[in-house]
Amino acid sequence: MCDPVIEFKNVTKKYSNYIALNNLNLSIQSGEIFGLLGPNGAGKTTIILMLLGLSECNSGFINICGSPVIHRSAKAKQLIGYLPDNVGFYKNLTGRENLELICKLNKIESGLIPHRVETLLQMVDMEKFANKKTSTYSRGMKQRLGIAQALVKFPKILILDEPTLGLDPSGVQELLTLVKTLNERHGITIIISSHNLEQVQKICHRVCILICGKIKAIGSLETLAAGLGANNGFQTFI
Ligand code: ATP
Repeated sequence: MCDPVIEFKNVTKKYSNYIALNNLNLSIQSGEIFGLLGPNGAGKTTIILMLLGLSECNSGFINICGSPVIHRSAKAKQLIGYLPDNVGFYKNLTGRENLELICKLNKIESGLIPHRVETLLQMVDMEKFANKKTSTYSRGMKQRLGIAQALVKFPKILILDEPTLGLDPSGVQELLTLVKTLNERHGITIIISSHNLEQVQKICHRVCILICGKIKAIGSLETLAAGLGANNGFQTFI
């Protein structure tokens, strides 16, 4: 995989007169778990939408593996798997059936689908629950199945938008363990957006703290702690 995998250069995004991202420079390396941290309105979703080619910047450029992200191009979808903060399923279908459908919608060759679905179920450790309807799933199980859906094309980059929201402490722990496993075992570069540094810090190689569309701090947790002081109060934004 190329380095940097993702590069924002002098990116500014405005909504009417409001500056959501202000001359942002950011590089993410291959194999990183990168935490995108910040309070409501910081610009996290704006960054994600631009990476997915769903929103255009006003100035600057964004590269994925050295190629510019083209607005509304399907290429970003090939490279990036995305778990939105409100992932939905067909409630009357089982987890396995949902994945089969997602494979079909993504035009995976029909002969390859059964093996692809089993592989995805294994990757997110959901084989045991695959034949249950998704309407019976807990929030944590839904997040796992959502991640399996996001991985349907075996992307090199996975973006998780607030994946720990609504999970109890053990659910958070299980989800973070899964994210770490996907990164270590499958080499997937992962961007995890969150309000809560304390939750995600354990698994992130680096985090960036975004406030009002500007990066306030970036680096490994050790670097940030050294720069900001040990009890700096930046554990949580909510
Ligand atoms: P949250 O955690 O609340 O989703 P965020 O960090 O993801 O916050 P963004 O959703 O990227 O933040 O929003 C950044 C700023 O841009 C916010 O002030 C938001 O109100 C504004 N904004 C986002 N989308 C639009 C839009 N379509 N039109 C106008 N303003 C927008």
